[in-house]
Amino acid sequence: MRPIGLIGGMSWESTAVYYRLLNERARERFGGLHSAEILLWSVDFARIERMQADGDWARAGEELAAIVRRLEAAGAGCIAICTNTMHKVAGEVAGAVRVPLVHIADATAAAVRHAGCKRPLLLATRYTMEQDFYRGRLAELGVDTAIPPEPARSEVHSVIYEELCRGQVRPESRARYVAAIKDAARAGADGVILGCTEIGLLIGPGDTDLPLFDTTALHADAILEAAITPLS
Ligand code: GLU
Repeated sequence: MRPIGLIGGMSWESTAVYYRLLNERARERFGGLHSAEILLWSVDFARIERMQADGDWARAGEELAAIVRRLEAAGAGCIAICTNTMHKVAGEVAGAVRVPLVHIADATAAAVRHAGCKRPLLLATRYTMEQDFYRGRLAELGVDTAIPPEPARSEVHSVIYEELCRGQVRPESRARYVAAIKDAARAGADGVILGCTEIGLLIGPGDTDLPLFDTTALHADAILEAAITPLS
């Protein structure tokens, strides 16, 4: 296995889930005391969130590119950005190193297509729901997504930053998410992409009958697979 280079901390609440899942997958795969070799650079999320809110994606891209260069220099054999939103700068990050970037939308699209879903609902930050970098990539990979209308869209966004990224999991917010999923199902959605790496802390299979695509778990699977696949 090549060491996995993770850019985490966005937020650390979900990076902790990545850490656990990668090690669990390595144990399932190799047994015994085997675990995943991981290099983690965990950022101060307050700084990154400020850049997002200011629309300063160029600076955020430079920061993440600098981090990934350090991860490569330290021995990472593949890299991953542990958030959907910061895949907005995936091109800059991937272009800064020679080792492959495991893209979260690619892992997600593969799972949605495999399940045969035609129009899943995407729950994510406002950036991921409204801008083209994520939905566009999914569409290129054959997955058309729906997003919630307002005011549900704003509620989904603010629960991520005001609660989940601060370690708060509230039943009333779960109820709001479930209501948004029910509305989308009535409008024809046939699956739900948990398109923010913290949403799996709030919503699980017991909350809906629709198939759920948890991007954190799907990404972790794809990262482990990349780490054990020889470089061509
Ligand atoms: N972790 C979240 C995501 O997957 C949101 C935090 C961020 O803005 O990076 O999009």
